[in-house]
Order: sequence, then C-alpha cells, then structure tokens
Amino acid sequence: MDLSLSAEQQQIQQLFRELAKKEIRPQAAEIDAQAVFPRALFEKVGEVGLFGMRYPPPEGSGADLLSFLLALEELAWGSLSVAAVCAMQALMGTFFVQRFAEGELRERLLAPALRGDLVGTICMTEPGAGSDLGAIATRAEEDSGVWRLTGQKTWITSAPVADFFTVFARTGEKELSVFLLEKGAPGLSVGRSIEKMGVRGSPTSEVFFDHTPATCLLGERGEGMGYLKQVLVPIRLLTAALALGTARAAFEEAREYAAERTQFGRAIARFQAIQKHLAAMAIDLEAARRLTYWAAWRAEQGRPAVTEAAMAKLFSSEAALRICDRACRVLASYGFARDHAVERYLRDVRFTLIGGGTSEILEINIAKGVMR
Ligand SMILES: Cc1cc2nc3c(=O)[nH]c(=O)nc-3n(C[C@H](O)[C@H](O)[C@H](O)COP(=O)(O)OP(=O)(O)OC[C@H]3O[C@@H](n4cnc5c(N)ncnc54)[C@H](O)[C@@H]3O)c2cc1C
Repeated sequence: MDLSLSAEQQQIQQLFRELAKKEIRPQAAEIDAQAVFPRALFEKVGEVGLFGMRYPPPEGSGADLLSFLLALEELAWGSLSVAAVCAMQALMGTFFVQRFAEGELRERLLAPALRGDLVGTICMTEPGAGSDLGAIATRAEEDSGVWRLTGQKTWITSAPVADFFTVFARTGEKELSVFLLEKGAPGLSVGRSIEKMGVRGSPTSEVFFDHTPATCLLGERGEGMGYLKQVLVPIRLLTAALALGTARAAFEEAREYAAERTQFGRAIARFQAIQKHLAAMAIDLEAARRLTYWAAWRAEQGRPAVTEAAMAKLFSSEAALRICDRACRVLASYGFARDHAVERYLRDVRFTLIGGGTSEILEINIAKGVMR
C-alpha cells in the first residue's frame, strides 16, 4: 500500500489547510462560546467544493475518498463544530437527494445544497432507537398517493437551520424506507437545540412529524437499511478523519506549550513524564492516520473495507480522546481554562466516539468481521 499523497490530494489538503488556518480556527472559540450554526463558514466551505467532493461530475467533483478525508481532517483541525456540520452536509445530509431526487426537485435542492445555500439533514435516531435502528418507530403511511409521516427524531445535526430532512421511517413491520421532507411542511416541527458539552456550534435537535406529507419517497420502499450499509465505510472514515484533525490540533498545542513552559528552571518538555505524554500522543496520532488511510485505500481499490473502516473509526476516536486528554495534562491548569483551546478539544472530541457508531457497537462489528 502506498501511503504517499498524490499531487492532487496534496493540493486539496493545502486548500482546506489554508481555509482552516485563516478563516475557521480564528473563529473556533467564539463559535463554541456562542453555540450557533457557523453559517458564513459553512457557505465558504461550500464555495471551495467540499459538499460535492463525494459525488460524480457534473454536480460534484468526484474526488477520491482519501481526498475527502484529508479535507475533513483540516476542517476539524480548525473547528470540530464547523467540520461536523460540513461533514454531515457533504455525506449523509445530501446523500439520498443526490442519489434519488430527479428533475425539478433535484434542481431545486441538490445544486444549492452543494453550494452551501441549503442545509440538509439525516434523521434516523429516535428517543427509543439509537444504536438499534431496527427500533425506529416513526411510521409512514400512504394516503391518496401521498406518504404521511408521524413520529419523532432526536439528535439531528443541523435540524434547527435545515431546509430539508431525509427521514428513515417504518413502512412495514420489518421495512424501513427513506423520505424527503421539506421545511414548512404541515405538521413538521423542530424542537429545542440540545445543550451539548462539545461541538456546540453544530446544533442538534428533535424533529417532530404529525401526519406530515413527504415531498417523496427516496429510492425503493423498504430499502433504507440496505442503502445505509452502502455508505458505512465513508460514514465511519469521515468520523475517523474528524477525530484525527482534533487530535492533531491538541498534539500541536501540547508540543508547543511543552517547549515554552518552564518549571524548575527548564522547559517542561525536558521532563521524562512530559516526554512520555508527547511520545504516546505522536504514536497514537500516526497509528490512527495510518489505519484511516489504509481503510480508505482498500475502499478505493474495491476491496472489502467495512471492518477496516470500523477499526479505523474506533481506534482514531479513542486515540483522539487519549491525545486530547494528554494535551490537557501537559497544559495542567491552563488546559483546564476556557481561554486555551485544549479544553475545547477534549469536550469536542467525545462526539467522535458516538457519531458513526459507538465504540461498543463497532467492537461487535469488528469481531463479526474478523470471525467471518
Ligand atoms: C453531536 C451528535 C450529533 C448527532 N447527529 C445525528 C444526526 O444527524 N442524525 C441521526 O440520526 N443521529 C444523530 N446522532 C445520534 C447518534 O447517531 C446516536 O447517538 C448513536 O447512534 C448512539 O445512540 P444513543 O445515543 O441512543 O445510544 P444507545 O444506542 O442507547 O447506547 C447507549 C450505550 O449502550 C451501548 N450499546 C447499545 N447497544 C449495544 C449492544 N448491542 N452491545 C453493546 N453495547 C451497546 C452503546 O455503545 C452506548 O454505550 C447524533 C449524536 C450526537 C451526539
């Protein structure tokens, strides 16, 4: 496996690195403090083309999976809140519309969403259905040719600012289908934003449907879970890339601080205890990156990658948590202060343990994969 980046991948990495450095990072603390959707940055990320990267031309740019992950890592280095809302838009928020919407609907929604002018969401989780999507209770019933949805979703990223909703609903006892609903549809309401410990600029809320007419069914009836399985690899690797970006930011901050901070007459980087932290962080970061790139490479080669992507996601998110925690230890009291970014990284990074499948669920999936 060749882990070196192509010239094109390096260009993409550079483009997003510059954006993250110049525009996103300087606003990251404020976005966290205000806990508001970063609309202007979202649009900017749309302008530079993130949202169309995973889709074929002419609507998208058809970039390879690793390029997409490199872009997300850079965004997450700048702000995990910004990266989280953008990642959602670039994959699950627009996935079903890109795949199944046609004609006027496609024109009305897809191009504006890929530019960042419209915000899309994926609505799967419910109060009684988290890891267990088989327990989804929102139901869809056909009434004179119109599908009407009744039920409740929760934890829906970008719901408070969403223009459209891709909703998983039950169309039969053992059947989940995917529907498109649009803002303003009768009986659709968005609940309060959930107060979160991290990724506070990525608003998440409940969504309620009361006999709400769907704009349309997306894809085939009953195929919801099947479609979801087809995007498991990018979903998991996307979260791994978000973890990598946050972890890299934490590592860099700790390394810089360790070189500058003096105690007992010398830089703390000269104490073995601090060196152990830095070494462990560097190893975790590199191992997480290698696993993630390896899984992406396998996927691009058309090789099986579901188990590998689960390994990469599990390892990267857990490693990122360790790295952010160590960064806080290196900064000690300053790592506990709001005006140092590492405390935000530690709060934010916990999101990567949950999104894309919890570690516990991924362990089960990996075990099944290796026993096959
Ligand atoms: C910031 C944020 C944004 C999100 N955005 C979205 C979104 O846009 N759309 C959406 O649909 N959802 C979204 N989610 C929801 C997310 O996908 C779910 O939280 C996730 O699937 C886990 O579900 P849960 O929180 O209900 O945990 P549960 O499934 O209730 O799990 C609770 C605990 O039990 C463990 N567990 C559960 N089942 C098993 C098992 N079989 N074996 C062993 N352990 C198990 C879990 O690992 C966990 O530790 C978001 C969540 C967060 C935090």
